[in-house]
Amino acid sequence: MIKVTVWNENRHEKINPKVQEVYPEGIHNALANFLEEDFSVRTVTLDDPEHGLTDDVLNDTDVLIWWGHQAHDDVEDRIVEKVKERVLDGMGFIPLHSAHNSKIFKVLMGTRTGQLKWREADDTERLWVIEAGHPIVEGIPEVIELEKEEMYGERFDIPQPEELIFISWFSGGEVFRSGCTYKRGKGKIFYFRPGHETYPTYYNKDIQKVISNAVKWVAPNVNSPTLKLGNVQPLE
Ligand code: ZN
Repeated sequence: MIKVTVWNENRHEKINPKVQEVYPEGIHNALANFLEEDFSVRTVTLDDPEHGLTDDVLNDTDVLIWWGHQAHDDVEDRIVEKVKERVLDGMGFIPLHSAHNSKIFKVLMGTRTGQLKWREADDTERLWVIEAGHPIVEGIPEVIELEKEEMYGERFDIPQPEELIFISWFSGGEVFRSGCTYKRGKGKIFYFRPGHETYPTYYNKDIQKVISNAVKWVAPNVNSPTLKLGNVQPLE
């Protein structure tokens, strides 16, 4: 069974009544509740010792999901470095929504800012599937409509995605690359845009299905051969 660790900053939930109303148990538990149907799931938060990402936890994680927003700078650089090493070594990584501005996302993308346009104004979002047939969109309709979401618009300061799975349209007119895959070292990454803290997006069944599909897709291949590097003798 794939072992998933859901990491949540969990700060909005402590101070914003609107967020408490939408996610009374925190975003991490909203994510864990549906992921537990298919995976072995643990949740950890920023204010846990070592942000919940001890060596034992990281070494026991196949896929790390990351939600952060207002406290990216509180994440210690040494923890970011450990997460990066685990991704390069094969751990799957799913940064959600405002994780675009997290230290770990920017380090893995090689971008300075990870910035984009944004607006909190109850825009409608439509996520259009671009890569039909990709495992991440298995069982997903051609378009997912979210009645109200925060708007993210291009340009999004990311490297060219290896696969562009979704493009979002917003009622304000903007578009956004909202589902992007990358490989870094042995690790697979899927950035997925929706999930502003004041909207009930993580209760949407199609959004849940995309995240579950993505967990399976970014999970490391356990049958991958161990490749030897360095000086070698000829085979013949
Ligand atoms: Zn947001």
